[in-house]
Amino acid sequence: MTEPRFIKFYETTLRDGEQTPGVNYFPQEKLQIALALEAMGFDTLDCGFPASSPGEFEAVRLIASKVERSEVCAIGRAVKSDIDTAWEAVKIAPRSAIQPFVSVSPLHRKAKLGKTREEVLEMARTAVAHARTYTENVDFALEDTTRTEHDFILEVCAALVKEGVRFVTLCDTVGYALPWEFGQLVADVRKEFPGVRISVHCHNDLGLAVANALEGLRNGAERVDTCINGLGERAGNAATEEVVMAVRTRSADLGLDVSVDTTKITATSRLVADLSGMTVQWTKPVVGRNSFSHGGGIHQDGVLKDARTYEIMTPESIGLTSADRRMHVGKLSGRAALAAQLHELGYDLTAEPLGRAFNMAKLLLMKKRELEELDLRYIAEAAITTPAQLTTATTEAGSS
Ligand code: MN
Repeated sequence: MTEPRFIKFYETTLRDGEQTPGVNYFPQEKLQIALALEAMGFDTLDCGFPASSPGEFEAVRLIASKVERSEVCAIGRAVKSDIDTAWEAVKIAPRSAIQPFVSVSPLHRKAKLGKTREEVLEMARTAVAHARTYTENVDFALEDTTRTEHDFILEVCAALVKEGVRFVTLCDTVGYALPWEFGQLVADVRKEFPGVRISVHCHNDLGLAVANALEGLRNGAERVDTCINGLGERAGNAATEEVVMAVRTRSADLGLDVSVDTTKITATSRLVADLSGMTVQWTKPVVGRNSFSHGGGIHQDGVLKDARTYEIMTPESIGLTSADRRMHVGKLSGRAALAAQLHELGYDLTAEPLGRAFNMAKLLLMKKRELEELDLRYIAEAAITTPAQLTTATTEAGSS
């Protein structure tokens, strides 16, 4: 078996993630997130767009003054003043980088920029040339790459490579690509420029961000742009925790691996949810509160016997413990889950009282959507003391 290739991360929670409508971090909060991301071991932190506002400039500069291990990057339009401001904000960091960008698609060129192909090509080329006067760590992002003429993508890449660009970032800015198309795009650019280093930036408008990112990586991209909790413009970016755990869980089959500390995922996700104000939905992959919760009786029985029956990751791998595993006692759940829940509350019921408790729980769930701790305690106490005539036969429900 060949050794897996370790992928790099361009973690953009602090930049694209802050472009989530409704998110606005204060500088100290951005720093707090930056330090959490650094502790997880991400390679590059995309910290913001310093030319966009004085507050943003200060926040990026604050991060650059504190973060030591991760590379601190800032973005800017492919214009001289944005690049100057970006560099000014990050240059004090031990490791710094800048990433100018320009839209390359015909729609963006015409509708947004009012520029020709030649003009856009020249903007990209001169931006890299100018940024390179400051540092060798110059990456360039081709906004809306996936809706751009194939020959123009290659033409822009050729110019960037000639100017000494470090990473070329291929962007599915509007989440339009299908996984095999995006994989092919990366493979095509790699074939044309074997030495080029590619980063992939994928949005989730069709729920394909992670799939597209994985296809990009599988086809030779070295680096992936991601946001914690899948934050970002509109439907967000490829979620950091999803890419990390997908690569880790299927490492052998992908031939890829990650070097980040996965056990810090939960804490970082909660920090970002807290500071961004963006609540994580319960069914969100990896970090949703239901990731290790089981509702169906058959599932619960399986998990209680061997968690691998219905879990492909362990709670420990993302910084939780087996105590965070939840057996939801609901309409569809089984006796084993109720016994487990009652055990946690200090009640170890034998078969007969457990049967009574189970019946009471099911009856109560015809009136209430959810059983709370007090309900469970009441049921347990009642089951222990209630005469046997309350017992009626029920079957355990639950579906696969
Ligand atoms: Mn984006």
